[in-house]
Amino acid sequence: MQASATPNAHPQLDAAISHLADLIAYDTTSAYSNLELIHHMENFFTGLGANVTVLPDESGEKANLVARLGPADVAGIVLSGHTDVVPANPKSWQSDPFKMEQRGSRLFGRGTCDMKGFAACVMAAAPAFTSGELQRPLYFCFSHDEEVGCLGAPAIARYLAELKVPPSLAIIGEPSEMKLINGQKGKIAMRVTMRGEGGHSSFSPQHVNAVEYASRIITMIAERSRRYEQEGPFDLDFTVPHATTLTTMIEGGVATNVTPDTCSFIFELRSIDQEAAATDIQALINDIEAALLPEMQRQSADSAIEWQELFAYPAMGDATDSKMFKELEPILPKRGGKVSYGSEGGVFEIDGGIPSVILGPGSIRQAHKPDEFIEIDQLSQCLAFFDELNTWMER
Ligand SMILES: [Zn+2]
Repeated sequence: MQASATPNAHPQLDAAISHLADLIAYDTTSAYSNLELIHHMENFFTGLGANVTVLPDESGEKANLVARLGPADVAGIVLSGHTDVVPANPKSWQSDPFKMEQRGSRLFGRGTCDMKGFAACVMAAAPAFTSGELQRPLYFCFSHDEEVGCLGAPAIARYLAELKVPPSLAIIGEPSEMKLINGQKGKIAMRVTMRGEGGHSSFSPQHVNAVEYASRIITMIAERSRRYEQEGPFDLDFTVPHATTLTTMIEGGVATNVTPDTCSFIFELRSIDQEAAATDIQALINDIEAALLPEMQRQSADSAIEWQELFAYPAMGDATDSKMFKELEPILPKRGGKVSYGSEGGVFEIDGGIPSVILGPGSIRQAHKPDEFIEIDQLSQCLAFFDELNTWMER
């Protein structure tokens, strides 16, 4: 092992940095296969004597991995991360996004903070978890396709739920600067397609203008969001302490002199509570259809509003009342509030019945950007937490 950068560095820090360099070198942008990375991890955890399960997806191009250390017959703890990363355009980067580079106290590369830094710490700490006698199991879980809508995690959550004794707490290592996050908003993204009736724009009163009707729906969505802002429900642990809904993309029209017969747009709803999102979306759809459809169809019977759910992931927030959380709380960092970005925590809660928290190295501010980096000190903090977790697991 090389000499550490600083005399007081964590003993596993060099190992974590070297694992991180290995992980960054796999281009696991969500559009590509993650199998090479999964096999790399499979070999690693198998070498440690872990019980390893690879869960391939239907295409055979992607897979999740679950590795267990410790006894299977008592409830344990999940350490979970995703293997995929968002795309990186090399032209906007100072260095190759898939070749880790250290500059000063920072490690640069796509996925350094979101979230291969966490995976590297897990791999660096894993040998220490085998050295003593774990009284409960640790499940290391790594998913595919988190960045495109948490597509891999449900299979992991279901696999864990079907174990004879499922784990009773999941720690999701998304970048939280090693603060404990005990809540996360859920999200539903919808595509809406307006079907109207077009023609030469000089005859517009005889048409059903899809762009104009879309704009009326978009206004209703914006009004719904203002109502959330004014009336709640509120949860002051979130920076934006209520649900939000907004239109994010729109497409419509073919020429300056044609009444548009189609228009499609995308909107999202971020909710603070598990069940509210689906109910709220349905109520919004009902209101919109009642307000606009009869008018559209009076002009043209074929007019329609089509609703398509693009993806959805549930909110997270069940952990703090759970038994395992209360037992573990003395070694956990202080509660650092709730976040509005997505994670797989809600999936573990809804699909697996496993209460979840977010706790991981790096800052979400560096995620999804060119020149993504992680502070080396964040890796040290994560390793120090794993030391405490190891001592606790052996008790
Ligand atoms: Zn992430």
